Amino acid sequence: MLEHTIAAIATPPGRGGVAIIRMSGKNPLEIAEKMFTPVGKTKVADFEPYRMYPGSIDGGNFTDYGLCVYFKAPASYTGEDVVEFQCHGGENVARGILKQTFRHGAKPADKGEFTKRAFLNGKLSIDSAEGVADMINGESDAEVKAGYLLYSEKLTNKVRIIQDELKNVLAGIDVSVDYPEEDVEEQHVAEIIPVLQKLKNEISLLTASYAVGKKIKSGVTVAICGKPNTGKSSLLNKLLGYDKAIVSGVAGTTRDAVEGVLEIDGRKFKIYDTAVVRDSADAIENIGIERAENIIRSADVAVFVADYSAGADEEDARVLAMVKDKPLIKVFNKIDLTKDETDTDADVHTSAVTGEGIAKLKQLLYEKSFGARGEDAAFLIEERHFDALQRAKESLQKAILACQISQPLDLIGIDVKESWDALGEITGETATEAIIEEIFSKFCVGK
Ligand code: GDP
Repeated sequence: MLEHTIAAIATPPGRGGVAIIRMSGKNPLEIAEKMFTPVGKTKVADFEPYRMYPGSIDGGNFTDYGLCVYFKAPASYTGEDVVEFQCHGGENVARGILKQTFRHGAKPADKGEFTKRAFLNGKLSIDSAEGVADMINGESDAEVKAGYLLYSEKLTNKVRIIQDELKNVLAGIDVSVDYPEEDVEEQHVAEIIPVLQKLKNEISLLTASYAVGKKIKSGVTVAICGKPNTGKSSLLNKLLGYDKAIVSGVAGTTRDAVEGVLEIDGRKFKIYDTAVVRDSADAIENIGIERAENIIRSADVAVFVADYSAGADEEDARVLAMVKDKPLIKVFNKIDLTKDETDTDADVHTSAVTGEGIAKLKQLLYEKSFGARGEDAAFLIEERHFDALQRAKESLQKAILACQISQPLDLIGIDVKESWDALGEITGETATEAIIEEIFSKFCVGK
């Protein structure tokens, strides 16, 4: 069914070379006819699809000169008739033209409504749509890459294969339930256990990749910790390449955690310069210390900065105890002040003044977070997908147990069906309206 025509500016706000106003629905070409005058004799109604036509665009109080293109249903992004205007990239130019489409009957598009229509018209799967959102919202190359893999249905295809095998198992169960001779059932149970086990292992492989995917999506959190005056703020600034943290020779200057975002080899790292960790009589400083301790405890990786020439003391030991269970990089800073660098257990010697060791520190941050640099694999980056796969795995585990204790086949079938349904939340077959709404709310208007 063709829906009412929606319109939005598809390009970001602000000034630019070009802006695009997009319409989709049952009559965008009729609206275009009322506000676009092509150069030459061609009429808008006779536009050949997928061809750019130059002409004047009515912006209400002004006219612009630009291009118009018609994408004919169903061969368009949304699967509906789509018309786009390309005008000069001034915010007011684009807004004026958009308002004109409203005057001629188009309705403002909601966030992600074009993509939602594409999904509803079967142009792309639900996780493909999520991939589009991940690419648009991606803050690092790795996130964009992972989004593209989702968009190109890598995950959907893997999940569909598992779903198909589960469907075969279910079909087999149905047949056995219809012909319930005891030995047939027993034999059947023995046959499906290895199949379910194999599928469970395949799902486990997918869920395991979320450990990395999550870090790609939200960034690796890194806490720079250590005693005051060891050069933590200076190191943060040097890592970021600009001054973010206040550097001072007075101990205790960093009252609150300062955060900076850094990209190392296309992956995002959120680096926190944590406030001094020591007992203080100052109430405000104590709040800062508490917050810093929370950041240190929840960080993915800790960078411990020490002045090794002074030797480790109680305060160092206290910080190290806090980070003992996480990947740790020990840094000997201010190496420019000393030549005595041999008898320390530091992983890297740095100077926040000369920049020595900073590249090695970045390399260590990458390796401690992701292991050695290797091929780009397809990672699970959406928590929603991880949850659905976890549930699918749990249901399979229940089914396997039920087989092992010789439960009736129809009960085993219920667990297998539950697993299939959980996977359907990824491929879209069982995605509820609430799931769909949430996914499309992540989009911007115009996509
Ligand atoms: P924080 O309290 O650990 O954050 O330490 P700061 O970054 O504020 O640095 C304390 C002092 O040490 C400042 O005077 C810095 O200029 C100085 N400093 C930091 N790193 C180095 C370094 O690598 N070499 C030298 N020579 N001085 C440094």
